Amino acid sequence: MSAEKERLFRVLKGVVQKPGNGLCADCGLPGPEWASTTLGIFICLNCSGIHRNIPDVSIVKSLLLDPWNDSQIQHMANLGNEAAKNTYEAFVPTYYYIPTYRDCQVLREQWIRAKYERKDFSKENKPLAYNTGYREGFLWKRGRDNGQFLNRKFVLSEADGILKYFTKNDAKEPKAMIKVDSINATFQPTKIGNPNGLQLTYLKDNSTRNIFVYHEEGKEIVDWFNAIRAIQFRTLQVAFPGASDDELKHKLTRNFLKEGYMEKTGPKQTEGFKKRWFSLDHRRLMYYKDPLDAFARGEVFIGSSDNGYLVREGFPPGTQGNGNWQYGITIVTPDRDFLFICETQQDRQEWMVAFNGVISQQMSPQEYTVEAYFKHRR
Ligand SMILES: [Zn+2]
Repeated sequence: MSAEKERLFRVLKGVVQKPGNGLCADCGLPGPEWASTTLGIFICLNCSGIHRNIPDVSIVKSLLLDPWNDSQIQHMANLGNEAAKNTYEAFVPTYYYIPTYRDCQVLREQWIRAKYERKDFSKENKPLAYNTGYREGFLWKRGRDNGQFLNRKFVLSEADGILKYFTKNDAKEPKAMIKVDSINATFQPTKIGNPNGLQLTYLKDNSTRNIFVYHEEGKEIVDWFNAIRAIQFRTLQVAFPGASDDELKHKLTRNFLKEGYMEKTGPKQTEGFKKRWFSLDHRRLMYYKDPLDAFARGEVFIGSSDNGYLVREGFPPGTQGNGNWQYGITIVTPDRDFLFICETQQDRQEWMVAFNGVISQQMSPQEYTVEAYFKHRR
């Protein structure tokens, strides 16, 4: 490297070390190695790919591979991630889901487009498509029995507190009415097999149901997702008038803490172990025969260590671990033990971390109600 190149690189590095520039401006990944020279922000490789596809917004340059001159570096120094945040994230609604580098592509892309292309958050009180309290349109919905995706009309209404869908266009009666405050919406591109795949989990008569939908347009599906969150947020504001916005935000849709296959046995622990798909949605551990089943086969409530729940590696002495896999987990509850087997040691480690994370938290009054329901049902 020439002396001049080396000097420029040092100056640029100095700008990257300024507060705010050490994390990707869009997803928070540490150590961004790219920049949008138009916006004056430092971003990660993944987000740079999204910016590259929006040439009206960004010209993208590598910090390491592309040539820089003094005025370009000065331009980045004048702007930077904090300044961009103050401009483009000035008025992000509390209910809007801000993705991180752990989230899927469609969420990250729409966040970037909403910020810089549509400037949704630069002005206060800008009318937003997902903030009207009402939405109707067509989504591809996976059929319960044949697994085919069919185009279905969905209607979301804040006034009714209901999301409903119709199997026929001219149908008067909806096929299902879902209470919006019971919905957990999570993006599941891999499981659903579509980059815009969204899972809607909800409670009906206290048991869990799932529907799987997508829209061809990333903007549409992310707007549906945030429209559901907007209604949930306002419902919570009414229900918990003293709570701060930040407290309420955590009660909106939740990502599953972990999903994957384990083997399980029945309550007598004499049956053989069967492979099932598990989803841990905070304190509800649900299991399915197929990851895309509408109904859970069963659910286990995971309480807290304060009231008798604990998780340990392996099985109680004398248990026959007659599964195909070998990495056992025992969840001890006040009523009975649940035995699971993981395929790999790493998988078991991840499940243990997820279970312990839940068990170490104290239960809320609402969670005691859910626990009582689970006990009563048995
Ligand atoms: Zn990023």
